[in-house]
Amino acid sequence: MADLRLITHASELLTGQGVRAREGRHVTDDDLGRIEDGAVVYSVKGRGRLGEIPGRIEWVGPTRDLPKRYLKLRARNLRLKQAVVPGLVDCHTHLVFAGDRSEEFALRCAGASYEDIAARGGGILATVRATREASAQELLELASRRVNEAWGYGVRTLEVKSGYGLDWETEKKCLEVVRLLARRFPEVAFRSTFLGAHAYPKDRSREEYLRELLEQMLPEVARKKLAQACDVFVDDGYFTREEARRLLGRARDLGLQTKIHADELGDTGSASLAAELGCLSADHLLQISEEGIRALACSETVAVLLPGTAFYLKARHAPARALLAAGARVALSTDFNPGTSMTLHLPAVLTTAALYLGMSRAELFAAVTYNAARALGLHDRQGTLEPGQDARIWVLPFSRFEESYYRFAWAPAAGAR
Ligand SMILES: [Zn+2]
Repeated sequence: MADLRLITHASELLTGQGVRAREGRHVTDDDLGRIEDGAVVYSVKGRGRLGEIPGRIEWVGPTRDLPKRYLKLRARNLRLKQAVVPGLVDCHTHLVFAGDRSEEFALRCAGASYEDIAARGGGILATVRATREASAQELLELASRRVNEAWGYGVRTLEVKSGYGLDWETEKKCLEVVRLLARRFPEVAFRSTFLGAHAYPKDRSREEYLRELLEQMLPEVARKKLAQACDVFVDDGYFTREEARRLLGRARDLGLQTKIHADELGDTGSASLAAELGCLSADHLLQISEEGIRALACSETVAVLLPGTAFYLKARHAPARALLAAGARVALSTDFNPGTSMTLHLPAVLTTAALYLGMSRAELFAAVTYNAARALGLHDRQGTLEPGQDARIWVLPFSRFEESYYRFAWAPAAGAR
């Protein structure tokens, strides 16, 4: 039993068993699977830079019910001071990029418009420029620091999108960095998503770039297995519904899963398109219509809400309550990116969602565990603490899960893992 680990006397242990039973819809406190004075036994495959490389969950229950066969394991006794929950899943990030846009934020706060900022060389194209210029090694070092930070907030699974290259060389470089991250941090589960369709580059015509995406980039991404999914930014001035339909149809034919940045700046009907195409997720949804809400609720597609973005842009929040009431599966994520949500603090996103989206404790929990895993197609192995599941575990620095978002934007103690 050398590779088994035992944690005892967790102040509360949330298994999320009921969330899985409900497949992430209409969850209530009863679905949290709350165990007071909980224990968990799990296997590990070794140790990485940040923490244990997870094996499987062997047993979960109240400490007093621990089976005799585990009594000889050395226990990590949490003395009823720390809670244990499934490792958080950040299912929508733009983790790999270079450049510094803090000056732009200062300008924006001083009243500069997006056009003013773009005219001074800022905005997404500033990140594209810096990312094109950076070496793979530089991008890897920048991204590694970010992974380290996310780990401190309980994140054990990270989705990473490309999309700051807008040319094949850089898109490929960024996706390869995700592969290097996965090697460097085997304790974290990574999923990479190809988002070549993030915006149209300025150095080619629309037709040229679309053709390149369809005929060159997507087939290469699939052939080299550089990503598990393909995402398209559908909005006015970006990609149209019809272009998304073509791109995602091609992606699906090549064996990739699909996602859409949907209904963020305007209602483009792209949430409905995501439901129709059977996408894993439709993300953002600030401007989703009634029809879009109904379409998502009746589909398997996860509604991924990113309230950090609305907070950062002082925009209207997504209609979370309407989505939840209709029966949609709702996940929450940071949307970590240098323009509209420069944070990896997933618990702070929960604070925002609790206050501005009106989500309950059970809904928040499901949104960063099971439903977020579902938005990545990983829900068979992740998102709950049940025997047989991956042992992705977060031992909180707090005695209750809700303290992780009641304390707004807390910092992990140095060395605490
Ligand atoms: Zn995004």
